[in-house]
Amino acid sequence: MNPECDLLIRNGTVVPMEEDRHWFSGDVLVGDGRILEVCPGGAHEVSARCVLDASGAAVLPGFIQCHVHVVQSLLRHQADGLTLLDWLELRTLPYEASLDGDGVATAAELGIAELLTGGTTTVLDFGTTHHHDRVFESAERLGIRMTSGRTHMDIGDGTPAVLLEDADASLADAEAIGKRWNGSAAGRLRYAVAPRFALSCSRHLLEECAGLARKHGWMLHSHASENKDEVAAVRAETGMSNIEYLDAVGLTGRDVVLAHGVHLHPNEIQILADTRTRICHCPGANLKLGSGIADIPELRSHGVRVGLGADGPPCNNRLSALYEMSLAATLHGLRSGPTALSAWDALAMATREGARVLDLADTIGTISPGRAADLTVVSLDSWSAIPGDDPASRIVHGGTAADVRHVLVNGRPVVVDGKLTTVDPTELRIRIGESWKATRSRMEQA
Ligand SMILES: [Zn+2]
Repeated sequence: MNPECDLLIRNGTVVPMEEDRHWFSGDVLVGDGRILEVCPGGAHEVSARCVLDASGAAVLPGFIQCHVHVVQSLLRHQADGLTLLDWLELRTLPYEASLDGDGVATAAELGIAELLTGGTTTVLDFGTTHHHDRVFESAERLGIRMTSGRTHMDIGDGTPAVLLEDADASLADAEAIGKRWNGSAAGRLRYAVAPRFALSCSRHLLEECAGLARKHGWMLHSHASENKDEVAAVRAETGMSNIEYLDAVGLTGRDVVLAHGVHLHPNEIQILADTRTRICHCPGANLKLGSGIADIPELRSHGVRVGLGADGPPCNNRLSALYEMSLAATLHGLRSGPTALSAWDALAMATREGARVLDLADTIGTISPGRAADLTVVSLDSWSAIPGDDPASRIVHGGTAADVRHVLVNGRPVVVDGKLTTVDPTELRIRIGESWKATRSRMEQA
């Protein structure tokens, strides 16, 4: 027993998310940013500088999302009713082209505020081409654990000219940003090289992105096989399927996370499995853009590691891990029957499996002594969460972001009683309104 700790989470239903799916009533002790001790039945005679009540709530590893775009947050609710390629050309790329530095920062803060209050403690994030330091500054200040990178685009009909960059110049910029931020904030921030997708990058750029990431040991993050028109266009331009092409340019491997994987041929699934490439399942965005439903049970049966992500606010329109879990545990019944992906499977994808996708399993993803204290406390008292016993079903099928009570990242309480502690919500709301107005005005003038 530790007689002293920095923080005590008391009287919760602790769900460690270990492989054996056990849970118990108890306390979690936190010190120096780490989980010191997990106490079934409760810790006795402990003195803590801070005590968070978890009565009637589940204590979980913080949720992990393996594909989001916080920089797109100001376009939320402004790009409905479109399929992927129109969504990009007509709304999202003109929006990104119109963002100034303050717009990038405010969008990032909006996205991070929603993520943290919804229980997400770690993200793999996708930036735009400019002002990416502002995303890292926002993540550093608001307290989320983030791996992120500015994107790369050097080709693409209909793409705003300001987003099309010289490949080598954009790679030099990425390298400089990565050197500034990778490993900073006590290791909470990391860099990932992020070419947007095959259709927006020359072969030279894709190959150089892979080379840059491997030179520094950074992750690679891109999109693949989200939409049928995209897949057909890649084949028309390269003569290969999308995953064959990405494999040929070096964009497969255990350091690569590809968002979507909705339209894959069996040989592409085999390439993903053989190369240990990771997939991020984005069911909410795939449904809203009408892209399709990725065959996640099939990918998992081949041993492909799969995480969960909300993708961008303009194509979801929320960044809720609980919403994505609910969809993941429901949708695959259509193709594979109702036992295809259980509530426990979905909860694992947003915790333990997500940590493996991001190569952070030694640090986060389960509740055990020595791990970073990234923890999410979710109320089990809501009408949709009672009655019942199995916490995974109650959380995945009965929980919403509004049920998130407390959130810790590296032991720091960033959300307490549902309220952000690291930013003034009233001031942020004012800036969000002003930034969207200014960005929309620039979009209209372009
Ligand atoms: Zn995306």
